[in-house]
Amino acid sequence: AYWPSSGALRVEQLSARYSSDGPLVLRDISFEVKSGEHVGIVGRTGSGKSSLVLALLRCIVTEGHVSYDGIQTDTINLDILRSKVTVIPQVPELLSGSLRRNLDPFEQYDDAVLNDALRSAGLFSLQSEPGTGSLSLDSQTSSGGSNLSVGQRQIIALARALVRESKILILDEDYETDAVIQRSLRNGLGKDVTLLTIAHRLRTVMDADKLLILDAGRIVSWFTPLRS
Ligand code: ATP
Ligand code: MG
Repeated sequence: AYWPSSGALRVEQLSARYSSDGPLVLRDISFEVKSGEHVGIVGRTGSGKSSLVLALLRCIVTEGHVSYDGIQTDTINLDILRSKVTVIPQVPELLSGSLRRNLDPFEQYDDAVLNDALRSAGLFSLQSEPGTGSLSLDSQTSSGGSNLSVGQRQIIALARALVRESKILILDEDYETDAVIQRSLRNGLGKDVTLLTIAHRLRTVMDADKLLILDAGRIVSWFTPLRS
């Protein structure tokens, strides 16, 4: 069967450190996310937001349990886990070559699929980014992606996730990522995609279904924001 068929996430008493004798950077984190929900994760610098992302992918040393769609991550091959749960990092790195290569490194998809993903992710509708209208699948990318803005790189990383039909997407926002890009990132997602957005400011994630506030590696609040 195809896993995960839904993007449900369950985290139970998760603690984490960067090395087996290092200090705990996450302590006793528990929360549950239903398929298709959008969770905003907020906390000051150093509170553990990016560490939580790494722990969800078992990139650092963890205790406790994480499961996606009912399957615990410690029973899943790490390459499979990391190919199914897409993380868009604060500053995405691109491959050198073309946008096409970045979206489809194994040449599995038609251009129409790739262009749809770029459109859904919002690459062509960004008036605020000069030159964006002229980007195409054949546009050249330099190593790391240094010829594109951080926001453009995040959109391309999102498009890659759309092409792969990831059910779980984690977006670690950069301070630089502006509101237009954040909105188009969210609007490009299917209804059944679970989204975790890490933000530096509460107001950028006030439209989320749930908010998780971290401080010093602990959850200090987990709530549904009020909407007017
Ligand atoms: P920011 O908003 O600046 O991105 P953050 O909330 O993502 O901050 P983390 O990067 O998760 O914060 O850092 C949490 C703690 O983990 C900090 O005390 C930090 O020093 C520690 N830490 C982060 N990266 C490493 C690392 N590679 N090795 C050891 N400790 C680390
Ligand atoms: Mg961070």
